[in-house]
This record gives sequence, structure tokens and C-alpha cells, in this order.
Amino acid sequence: MLDLLITHATLADGRRDMSIAVQDGKIAEVAPGLDASAHETVDAQGQLLSAPFVDAHFHLDATLSYGLPRVNASGTLLEGIALWGELKPLLTAEALIERALAYGDWAVSQGLLAIRTHVDTSDPSLLPVEALLEARRLMAPYLDLQIVAFPQDGVLRTPGGLDSLTRALDLGVDVVGGIPHFERSQAQGAESVRLLCELAAQRGLPVDMHCDESDDPLSRHVETLAFETQRLGLHGRVTGSHLTSMHSMDNYYVSKLIALMAESRLNVIANPLINITLQGRHDTYPKRRGMTRVPELMAAGLTVAFGQDCVMDPWYSLGSGDMLDVAHMGLHVAQMTSQEGMRQCFEAVTSHPAHIMGLDRFGIAPGKEASFVLLQARSAAEALRLRATRLRVYRRGRLLAQTPASTTRLDLPGRPAETSRIAQDRTGAL
Ligand SMILES: [Zn+2]
Repeated sequence: MLDLLITHATLADGRRDMSIAVQDGKIAEVAPGLDASAHETVDAQGQLLSAPFVDAHFHLDATLSYGLPRVNASGTLLEGIALWGELKPLLTAEALIERALAYGDWAVSQGLLAIRTHVDTSDPSLLPVEALLEARRLMAPYLDLQIVAFPQDGVLRTPGGLDSLTRALDLGVDVVGGIPHFERSQAQGAESVRLLCELAAQRGLPVDMHCDESDDPLSRHVETLAFETQRLGLHGRVTGSHLTSMHSMDNYYVSKLIALMAESRLNVIANPLINITLQGRHDTYPKRRGMTRVPELMAAGLTVAFGQDCVMDPWYSLGSGDMLDVAHMGLHVAQMTSQEGMRQCFEAVTSHPAHIMGLDRFGIAPGKEASFVLLQARSAAEALRLRATRLRVYRRGRLLAQTPASTTRLDLPGRPAETSRIAQDRTGAL
């Protein structure tokens, strides 16, 4: 007797009428038209069953703090960093944990079951670090959390910055972070990349740096990150987040840089909602989009994910933990509107970030963890178009969240009343 059987599901790769058998928290079988008895059987009615959403770039210590102690008037990255500096002395561990848990609830309800969050290590008290370690412990039964030691004000620019970051790692933080473009000079930025990659190599940890989050076409920290990755043999373990400078770089230089990145198997995380709102702020017209070169990096064989980065914090007043919203923006900014491009954008919020976070137990295949999301959509492209309702969210075979299907009742003059799924009923399987 199976624990759970899902029937008539469509998968993100386009396979239809599939059954998924679940036993002991794992996927036992994936096949068309399975007939087996189970404690619970769910007829998916042709809707999309997807691997969970994964966000490989977030700031859980800042989330849901919008308006504290004031709003970001200019909306710029630098005012956001200054505002975060004003907020930090006012933070308490209790409030940080409470906001992190509230966001975790939003995430699970949206089928977002794994988050890599950066935590600011600049303050020697490490209060945000201890708060997020506690949040990780409290959420472990329902959400995978990875924590990155992130020296927001620059590991070399902050007095004692390297010591604070190292102590955060000693406390159990999972990943080494950095922000080379925020150091005082290009040389200091390069020095910070070298130091932090060496620290990660010594400790056997992954690296995930905010790298060249600027519009400066001459910034060269991505090159340094790729070089240090190759020099220290960290292939596949290092991630560059943002890389927005690549948008503005000379095309000849980028043709060399992407080959260096591929050689060191650098992972890439773009943050479309944040990049499109924070970059190009000094431009008049035309305004640059600022997001890194996503389709070109994917074509070179690099793993590229889309992250949420911010939700209602000093940098961004919007967001809801909906990774389809993130992928929808990424698709538009990168002009990835082909069928293949849309599929890649869906993977950029599911399988790609799972790969970056080392979560190879995620996926709809035998032997994988039985964590998945049933969406009110009949394809990945339709899920993106509608930012589809998450009907059911499972983790390790256990139902964690349910949302009723979205329907509309129409009472139009001269026509019989009807209830329908307006935007979905017209489209068939596209
Ligand atoms: Zn970030």
C-alpha cells in the first residue's frame, strides 16, 4: 500500500498523464497510468506537478522590514545600504526571528521549499547571524535554509570584518559570501575575493558572493572570482550573484570572460526584480536593464538561477515569495520568450537553484525526495503566464499547504451566469 499516489499529472518537461507513487517520503515510481492502492490518491486532472521552487539568493535578515525606520526615498541601492545601516542598531533577535518565520510561511504557501539567505556579518555582535541560525533550526521541519556569511559593508572596509565573518562560520553558517565591488578600491576588491576564496577552500565550504552589482563596465571582480576558483580548485562550488556589470561590459571582453567562467564552472544567480529596479539609476535615456547576460551564460553551459533577493525591505518595497513572479520578470528582461526560453526560465527557479544549493534530492524522479507542488496550470509556460495558484504543496510526502483553485463567477447582462477559470480555459496546453 502506497502512502500517496498522484494521477493524471503533467510534468514540467511536457510528459502528460503521469502517475507519481510516494512511499516513506520518497518518490517510488513515475510512470503513465499507474494503478495501485494508496492511503491517499490525488487526481491532478492534467495540472502541472513541479519540483519545488528554490530561491538561491535572499536576505532573510532584512525581509519584511519595509518602512523601518523609514522608507527608501530615492529607491537606490546605495540609499538602501545606508538605510539598512540605520536599521541595524534597532534590530532585536526576537523581531528578526519573527519576520524570518513569517516569510517562511509565505514561502511554503507558494511552494518555495528551499532558500539560500545571506546574513549580514558586519556587526561584531553577530546578532542577525544568531537569529537566522535559530530561524533555520525552527524552520528545519518544513523548509531547507542555507545561510551565507555576507559582509554587507565590505569584509576589508569594515574594521574587524574578516574576524566577524570567520566567527559566523564557526557558529555554523554554511557558505562564504563577499561584496568586492563595495570595497574601497578595485585592488581591495580583488584582495577580498582572494581572501574569502582561500577561507572557503580551507574550510571545505561553498562561496556565494555579491559580485559586480554595479553598472561599471570596467569592474573586473567576476574575472577575479573565476580566476581564484580555478586557482584553488573550487570548480562548481563558487557562485557569483548579480554580476550586473556584465550587462554593460564591452562585448569582446565578455567573450573572453564567459569562457573563463565556464572553465571554472562558476554558478550564476541573477535577481531580475532587483536588477531591473536598481541598475541603470544614473542613466537618462536609453536606460540600461542591468541584468547579467542570462541566455548567453546558459548557452555556455553555466548553471544560471533567478533569485528573489528582497521582499519588502530597505531595497525593495514589493515581492511576495512567489518565484513565478521572479521568473516572469527574468523572462521579460532577458527576452527569453521562445518555448525553450520559457522552459529555461522555469528551471531557473526550480532545478537550477537546487543544483547550486546541492539539493540533488529534489526532482520528479524515482528515488528523489517526495517534495513537489501541484499548480493550477497545464504547462510550465502557463504557470509563468498566470503566476499559477499553488493548489497543493508537499514536502517529503507530507501535505504542507493547500490553496483553492482560482475561479471567477461572471454575471454578464444578456448571458447566463457562469463560473470559470477565465484565463486558463482559453489556452489549451500551450
Ligand atoms: Zn543580495
